Amino acid sequence: MLNLTFVNQYISHLPGDSLAENYPRQVEHAAYSFATPKSVAAPKLIAFNDDVANELDFSFSEHDEDELAQLLTGNQLTTSMQPYAMCYGGHQFGGWAGQLGDGRAINLGDIQTKNFGHKTIQLKGAGPTPYSRTADGLAVLRSSIREFLCSEAMYHLGVPTTRALSLCLTGDNVRRDMFYDGNAKYELGAVVCRVSSSFTRFGSFQLPSARSDGALLQAQAQYCIKTDFPHLLDQTQTFSPEVYANWFNEVCQRTCKLVVHWMRIGFVHGVLNTDNMSILGETIDFGPYGWVDDFDPDWTPNTTDAQGKRYRFGAQAQVCRWNLCQLANAIYPLINDAKPLQQCIDEFSDNYQQQWAEMMAEKLGFNEYVEASDQAIFSQLEELLASIETDMTLFYRKLATINISEKALEQPALHFADCYYQSEQITPEYKAELATWLNAYCERLLTQQGFDNSKRIAKMNAVNPKYVLRNYLSQQAIDKAEQGDYSELHTLQALLKRPYDEQPEFERYAQKRPDWARNKAGCSMLSCSS
Ligand code: AMP
Ligand code: MG
Repeated sequence: MLNLTFVNQYISHLPGDSLAENYPRQVEHAAYSFATPKSVAAPKLIAFNDDVANELDFSFSEHDEDELAQLLTGNQLTTSMQPYAMCYGGHQFGGWAGQLGDGRAINLGDIQTKNFGHKTIQLKGAGPTPYSRTADGLAVLRSSIREFLCSEAMYHLGVPTTRALSLCLTGDNVRRDMFYDGNAKYELGAVVCRVSSSFTRFGSFQLPSARSDGALLQAQAQYCIKTDFPHLLDQTQTFSPEVYANWFNEVCQRTCKLVVHWMRIGFVHGVLNTDNMSILGETIDFGPYGWVDDFDPDWTPNTTDAQGKRYRFGAQAQVCRWNLCQLANAIYPLINDAKPLQQCIDEFSDNYQQQWAEMMAEKLGFNEYVEASDQAIFSQLEELLASIETDMTLFYRKLATINISEKALEQPALHFADCYYQSEQITPEYKAELATWLNAYCERLLTQQGFDNSKRIAKMNAVNPKYVLRNYLSQQAIDKAEQGDYSELHTLQALLKRPYDEQPEFERYAQKRPDWARNKAGCSMLSCSS
C-alpha cells in the first residue's frame, strides 16, 4: 500500500463533518467524518488475497508480513491516506433507525487502478468513529473470518459482491455477549480489509432526505452517478429528472439480479436493512448470513430475526423491493414526480419473476424457459424439496447425473439418498411424488429440440455450485483459528475459488451438514453480535 496513491475523490467531492474530534454524535450536512484507525497491540496477518491485491496494483511482495499487518490494520498510515467514516442512515427490521453510519469501518481512501476502475479500501473493525454510538468500533475474529471467506466465495460463485483483501488479528481482546444473554466473554479482535468501487448504501440517500437536506441529497446522488454510473450522463453532464429516474431504474435492475443469484445458490443474507443495501447491487455486510442446507424458504440463520423472520430465504426479493421503495421515497425530491419511480418498482416484481424463472430453467438444464410447461415443474419441485429435509446444493448436482433416457429411475429416492437429512421422512408417498416429478422433468427435456445430455450436465454444473460456504464449515475454520491454527481457513479460501468444479481432494466439503451442527451456535444460529 506504500506504493498506492490515494486520490481521495469521495472526500474531495462531498461535504465533510466540520468537527475533527472523534466522539459519538449526530453529524449533519456531511457525507463523512475524518476518523483515524485505533492503533492495535500486535497486528498479525492471517489471510491475504493475492487476486484482489493484483487488481489494486498493490505490489505486496515488496513487503514482509509484519509490514502488511501494520498497514492492513491501520497501525501505519501512508501520506496520501485521509481516513474517514461514511455517514448514512437506514431502516432496520422495517423501522426507521435515523443516523447509523460507519460505526466500525474506516475507509483508508480511494484509488484509481490500472484495469479495474476506481476502488475504495476500507478497514472493518478499525476502532470507533463519530458513528459508533455506544459501541466499541471493533470486530471479532469469528465474524471477520465469516466476512473474509464469504465475500470471496460470492465472487467466485459469480455473484456481485464487495471483496476482501486481507484478514488480520489485532492482538487486542474484544468483549462480546454473543447471544445477548448475559454471557459476555473476551474474544480475539480482528480487522478485515474490504474493497469495492463504492460503499454507498441506500441509507446514504435516506439520511439527508429524512433530514430535509436537499443539498446533501443532491450532492450524494450526483457524486454517485458521476463515479459509478457515468454511462447515464450525456456530454452535457446535466442531472435531469430523467437521469435520476434512469439511475433508480438501474439500481432496481442490479438489485433484482443480485437476489436472483442469492436464490440460485441458496444464500440468505440475514440482515437486509437498508444500510446494508449497496447502491451498486453488491452483496455487502456479511453478518448472520447462511446457506440453506435443507431447502426451506422460511429459514433464516439470524437469531435476532427469529420471531418475525423478516429476512428469511424466500422473502428476500420482497424485502429488497420494500427497500427499493424506501430508496425511491428518499430520492423523490430529486425528481418531483412519483410516476417513473413507481414504474421501476412495479417492473421490479415482473423482472424478478421472469429472471427467477430463467434462472430455474438454467438450474434444471433447460435450453430456455417455457412458461406454459415450466411453472408447474418449478413449483412442484419446490414443494418436493421442502416436503422432507432435502439438501438444496446436493440435490441439483445429483439431478445432473440422472439417466434421462431411463426416465424415472427405478428407485429415485436411492439416487438422491445423500441429499436427505432424515431417512425416516422418505415415505412411499414421497417416493411416488419424486417419481412423478422426475418423469415430468425427463419428459420436458426429451421433448426439447436438439436435446444433448452431456450439454445439459455441463450447463447445470455451471450454475449449481458443488461447494458453498456452509455455516458449519466456517465454524470449523473459526474454532481452529481461535486456537491459532489457520489451516482450515486457508483450505476454505482455496477450495471456494472453484465452487463449480469437481475437486476430488475436497470431496468432504461437498457433503450435507453433519447432524452435530444442526442446532449448534455458529452453524445454524447466528446473532448480529460481531
Ligand atoms: P450492521 O448490522 O453490522 O450493519 O450494523 C448496524 C450499524 O451498527 C452500523 O452503523 C454499524 O456501523 C454499527 N455497528 C455494529 N457493530 C458495531 C460496533 N462494534 N461498534 C460500532 N458500531 C457498530
Ligand atoms: Mg451494516
